[in-house]
Amino acid sequence: MHGEPNARPLLPPSPSIREPGGLVTTSKPIGILGGGQLGRMLGLAAARLGQTVVVLDPDPVAPAAQVANHHVVAAYDDPDALAELAERCCVVTYEFENVPVEAVDQLVATVPVWPDGHALGVAQDRLREKDFLNAHGIPTAPYRAADDQAGLVAAVADLTGTPGTACVAKTRRFGYDGQGQLRIDPSEGVPADGFEQLGGVPLVVEGWVRFEAEVSVIVARSAAGDVVPYPPARNVHRDGILSTSTVPSGLGDDVDGSAVGFAVALAEALDYVGVLGLELFVAADGTLVANEFAPRVHNSGHWSEANCVVSQFEQHLRAVTGLPLVHPGCHRSAEMVNLIGDDVHRIPELLAEPNVMVHLYGKSEVRPGRKMGHYTRVGRPRDHRLDRS
Ligand code: AMP
Repeated sequence: MHGEPNARPLLPPSPSIREPGGLVTTSKPIGILGGGQLGRMLGLAAARLGQTVVVLDPDPVAPAAQVANHHVVAAYDDPDALAELAERCCVVTYEFENVPVEAVDQLVATVPVWPDGHALGVAQDRLREKDFLNAHGIPTAPYRAADDQAGLVAAVADLTGTPGTACVAKTRRFGYDGQGQLRIDPSEGVPADGFEQLGGVPLVVEGWVRFEAEVSVIVARSAAGDVVPYPPARNVHRDGILSTSTVPSGLGDDVDGSAVGFAVALAEALDYVGVLGLELFVAADGTLVANEFAPRVHNSGHWSEANCVVSQFEQHLRAVTGLPLVHPGCHRSAEMVNLIGDDVHRIPELLAEPNVMVHLYGKSEVRPGRKMGHYTRVGRPRDHRLDRS
């Protein structure tokens, strides 16, 4: 761990109870904006720390509601619902980055919100995000903004100066899991309705990176400036959706070290509080370019639940409630595999495997592309054999 104490107050300001034996529990629940699987896993981690959670999510059957003390069923911009959340909770966090910044602005008048509105605002806009990353020495693919069809054509012409280079146009806001993206092959040119296909909204166009591997780093930072990174995971995507995350990454100490260095630099540049996930592309020569970061716990860190003493979920809660951050204590290799759509039918077979932790999200309806759960297989393959001694 490293970091400078900074001037910001330690959290939360609401009373906490120091019980005999030194255990600290907050007197009020932790609020979570968003009730998906990430909120659910935060809720489970909170319970283990003796904490409770209140979830705000418009979906009455949100996965996190099943593990929350209370569920405020309302839109994220509902002022009354936000006031209720602020009233009920000692601190508020969020589990997805499309929470309106205005909601955070309303909440902070009454209750601390971590990560703060600045980190959220940067992460929500791919253009601001890339500007921020580059300004802090974290390289990205070359990129241009495009606000209409003519701008899209000009951006592609600019970026495909090198023959054979492809581009990808992405909506600046509200993209996730490869949604809101259009790959543009220079030999085919820009589709005449390209801008329209992406919804007629502001875009960022980036050069297509010929990467050897994708890697991500989960890092936690406290209000006091302590920083705790997790080992980088090597990620494989299928149809734009994360499929597997493996640790160690197998990419070598230099690549891992640079990836961690960038994630730590980002957390420090943002004066960040909580866990963030930084996704990077690794070129054949080992150089790294950042793709994006998520100001929240991240799918590529789910393996930490099965493999570390302190998971990304617990570390995030520690950061936002002012509890100490610690080395995560990851003890073995691990592979996390998302169960997407019909993959969920593999559950009986997975439950029969040793060294596999299955985690289902309590979603009743199976849909193609929907994340239904994941499993983490820990240890090297030889550890997976049944011990017959
Ligand atoms: P994103 O929604 O930006 O995380 O993109 C989803 C996935 O699409 C990434 O994890 C990559 O596999 C791929 N991708 C996105 N942008 C690029 C790029 N500029 N070059 C190559 N692959 C990309």
